Amino acid sequence: MTVRIGVMGGSFDPIHIGHLVAASEVAHRFSLDRVVFSPTGQAWHKEAGTSAPAELRYLMTVVATAADPRFDVSRVDIDRDGQPYTIDTLADLQAQFAKELPGQDAEWFFITGADALADILDWRDPQGILSAAHLVGVTRPGHVLADPGLRPDRISLIEIPALAISSTDIRRRVQAGEPVTYLVPDGVAHLIAKHGLYTGENG
Ligand code: NAP
Repeated sequence: MTVRIGVMGGSFDPIHIGHLVAASEVAHRFSLDRVVFSPTGQAWHKEAGTSAPAELRYLMTVVATAADPRFDVSRVDIDRDGQPYTIDTLADLQAQFAKELPGQDAEWFFITGADALADILDWRDPQGILSAAHLVGVTRPGHVLADPGLRPDRISLIEIPALAISSTDIRRRVQAGEPVTYLVPDGVAHLIAKHGLYTGENG
């Protein structure tokens, strides 16, 4: 039997309920056996001043996904030096999988924001990515889905109403002293408060 694995790539700065709903919905629609969340490493991060360090984004992702047996979190992008290209994320995870379960067939799906996927032609080795995985772009309702025009059989775009929640808005709310209750899992809200994230003082 072929195992169906989703890779949820993102900054997760912070992870929020919309990400969890999106992963769950994609898992349902594509009959995925599991979804591996892969937070980007620090080198990738554009807003060093207002973002959380990679280790805390990783920790928040672990805490947020802990209760769901379908979800795992990988350190491949956190631990790799340099820019974490998706072609490397998929190669590392596929190599790990082949080592853990030799001979086991797997079908791979790379899930991320449709905004991010719209730029895929500028990513490293887009054809290699499309050969390695089916791409699933998730987006908030009302957002115009940009179609990168590449192999429609290998790219799906899906609207997820819960993605009305965004990490940008959560960072803004924390900075403004507004509550993030129910927008992020409780454990994530506790980590944000404990480490003073997004206040402009500690990140
Ligand atoms: P981003 O530019 O920070 O995010 C763009 C938009 O997509 C935001 O609205 C973001 O919402 C949303 N988004 C990002 N990841 C998501 C997810 N997993 N589920 C739902 N929405 C998501 O994008 P990024 O986080 O830096 O990169 C996304 C992924 O694409 C990463 O895995 C990254 O490694 C990969 N990527 C690869 C290349 C390359 O190989 N050259 C280039 C760009 C990106 P939130 O802020 O609410 O998450």
